[in-house]
Amino acid sequence: MSATILSSGCVVIVGAGHAAGQACASLRQEGWQGRIVLIGDEPYLPYQRPPLSKKFLQGEFEESRLFVKPEAFYQQQNIECHLGARAVRIDRDKRQVATEAGDFIDFDRLIIATGAAPRKISIPGIEADGVCELRTMRDALDLRARLSEKSKLVIIGAGYIGLEVAATARALGTSVTIVESADRVLSRVTGPEMSRFFQNLHHEQGVDIRLGETIAGFETQDGILTGCRLSTGEILPASIAVIGIGVTPNVNIAEQAALPVENGIVVDEYARTIDPQIYAIGDCSNHPSELLGRRLRLESVPNALEQGKTAAAAICGKDKPYDQAPWFWSDQYDVKLQTAGLCEGYDQLLFRGDPAARKFSASYLKGDVLIAIDAVNSPADFLPAKKLIADRAQINRAKFDDPEIPYKDCFE
Ligand code: FAD
Ligand code: NAP
Repeated sequence: MSATILSSGCVVIVGAGHAAGQACASLRQEGWQGRIVLIGDEPYLPYQRPPLSKKFLQGEFEESRLFVKPEAFYQQQNIECHLGARAVRIDRDKRQVATEAGDFIDFDRLIIATGAAPRKISIPGIEADGVCELRTMRDALDLRARLSEKSKLVIIGAGYIGLEVAATARALGTSVTIVESADRVLSRVTGPEMSRFFQNLHHEQGVDIRLGETIAGFETQDGILTGCRLSTGEILPASIAVIGIGVTPNVNIAEQAALPVENGIVVDEYARTIDPQIYAIGDCSNHPSELLGRRLRLESVPNALEQGKTAAAAICGKDKPYDQAPWFWSDQYDVKLQTAGLCEGYDQLLFRGDPAARKFSASYLKGDVLIAIDAVNSPADFLPAKKLIADRAQINRAKFDDPEIPYKDCFE
């Protein structure tokens, strides 16, 4: 379904995160001359979350560098920012967004960019002082103030948050134990071989990793965390616990507005919902991928940025379908992991480089077709792989096995 092209009017963006920040910039670049109103429930202009578990948490990245655009940009581009304001309802008939404070804002086009929120667990002691999650700048400032050489950190979940926080905490001298319910680390995003690599990396750095274990409760004294009780009954002493067990998309206002939601707000390749005036972008949206042959909801900055651009272009009457190979990165100690594609369904895994030197790549193939890569400190493999995956390139095994031949020349 295509929308009527407007030359002016009002675009309201609900949520002021990474995707929203990109949408603001792209709307002006694509020629939107009307009003742009940004409604965000955090007290900040759109900022980047990746440094929150890495350099910012370590105290090596200034707060001012987090912002997607400086404050002057929003003034110069005449973007009205309602910060610390929560949107609570969308009235599709009246074309209006209601805020918690009781304001009603009319829209001609609406972009929902509400992101995702940390998954919660309901266990005894969860309210204790010292039990933390990590999603916002405020969370990161709180956690940073608690981390020291004297603190004992238990991390629940060995996903990206868990492993990145572990690496940062070790750099600050904190003792770290990770409790993960699955039988390997990073199980959501990579294959068993890479999980083993990351598990060894963390062991070498002194991190105690408990696989196949879950947390039953937190021990407290006067409301302050003293330990984490595992389901085996063992108690791990702790002054800080970080819960990093995944996220759920923020879809309430879409559901209430009767927009279809299936693991995210359902959109088409132009980031448009079933209502042609309403778009959804970033972590909260679920989009079709021709490349993967299914719908998917991605939780990554590249996805937030591309969908922000896609929605802005579509609103300005320039439909440009979004169907890129997903890509991700993670920084842990001296390792930069760069991933492109999704490895699900691979039947062959081939390595290049030297894992012992922490410089190698793992290529995932289905038949002869490259479907994903995990590159460790190997950007020369990762960069061409992004395009090769999008092109469904087929491996030339003889060339691949010759280390002298650059990665980009090993496929046809
Ligand atoms: P968000 O950035 O979450 O923004 C959504 C905003 O909307 C939030 O401010 C939220 O509070 C607000 N909001 C929600 N509901 C309402 C409402 N009703 N009214 C008003 N406002 C509302 N990705 C990578 O690719 N690489 C990384 O290295 C990486 N590191 C990360 C590290 C951390 C610690 C975290 C938490 C995430 C990381 N990510 C990383 C993921 C990445 O940050 C997200 O995929 C990205 O922020 C998604 O952007 P978004 O705009 O969709 O959502
Ligand atoms: P995640 O990557 O989904 O990992 C969560 C891990 O916790 C999974 O392995 C999960 O196992 C496990 N888990 C679930 N319930 C558990 C329990 N009760 N006890 C112990 N372990 C449990 O999510 P995350 O690490 O929390 O990250 C949150 C968000 O931030 C994601 O969107 C992520 O992409 C983003 N992020 C990204 C980066 C990056 O791209 N570099 C960095 C940081 C954060 P199951 O899968 O078996 O449930």
